[in-house]
Amino acid sequence: MAGSSRHLGLDLGATNIKWTVVERHADSWETVDRGQMPTRSAEGPDAVIGRLARVAIEARARWPDLETVGIGVPGLYDADAGTARFLPNLAGEWSGRPVAGPVSERIGLPAVLINDARAFGLAELRLGAGRGASTMVGLTLGSGVGGVVVVDGGVHFGHDGTGGEVGHQTIQADGPPCTCGNRGCLEALTKADRIAAACGTPSAAKAVDAARAGDARAVAGMREIGHLLGIGIANLIVVLTPDRVVVGGGVAAAGELLLEPIRDEVRRRVKVTDLEQVSIVAAELGTWAGSIGAAVHGAERAAAARPVGVAGEGAR
Ligand SMILES: [Zn+2]
Repeated sequence: MAGSSRHLGLDLGATNIKWTVVERHADSWETVDRGQMPTRSAEGPDAVIGRLARVAIEARARWPDLETVGIGVPGLYDADAGTARFLPNLAGEWSGRPVAGPVSERIGLPAVLINDARAFGLAELRLGAGRGASTMVGLTLGSGVGGVVVVDGGVHFGHDGTGGEVGHQTIQADGPPCTCGNRGCLEALTKADRIAAACGTPSAAKAVDAARAGDARAVAGMREIGHLLGIGIANLIVVLTPDRVVVGGGVAAAGELLLEPIRDEVRRRVKVTDLEQVSIVAAELGTWAGSIGAAVHGAERAAAARPVGVAGEGAR
């Protein structure tokens, strides 16, 4: 198709490696293929990186005209070096481990890394609930609370790619300890096991089911979690004045049971801007957002960030 190009996104998760091929058109994006395989993180970084490369090679066999690869990683990374810095949910020593380079060399295409929450946000911005937003805040609720900040239609990465870690803003000065080392972070208060505890269910997924079925304790638990999320989102609205706030991750399936308490809290706290202009909505792309966003990031960034020694090879 004239004027379009195809790009691969890989989402390195603790459980699965998901891949998606997106097609970029003049003013739109489209998902054209996808799949997944187990990460088997316990086998260590070498095996996992080899598996990433194999997924990429198999995707390229299906789509020979792929132009770029984006790789979403669950943690911190060095964008320029294409190395992992801190991937706490994967087994083994990942710090300093090259990830983009080995995949790029094996497939012969430029490859770049992106944090998985930023990938989620970029996907929602280009293909999902954030379409058309200029300034956007995204939260993805799961075993942690990932985040993304979009300014003027592009993801704000900060100087080292950690911009948008909205889950690590302090909500309670002396609150519970967080995995990041701080106390009282939004993540420490609203991650999946806190949602399960608030709703009196064995898991956050069960909390969603119970709340949707009308269980009074689960509905009250969602309201409590929404109240805490609303405080964090109110802070972000005051600072950034977004036109869109996108709430994703498994618990977003609770829909209005979670979004209404968030909106109530935001209305209580935000007095400096017209909230009619700020829509707070559920994400649209589900569990594939990470690989879609990684593909979009590759398309938008990889050509400019080609690793030394791979430039030109296989690129068109
Ligand atoms: Zn934290």
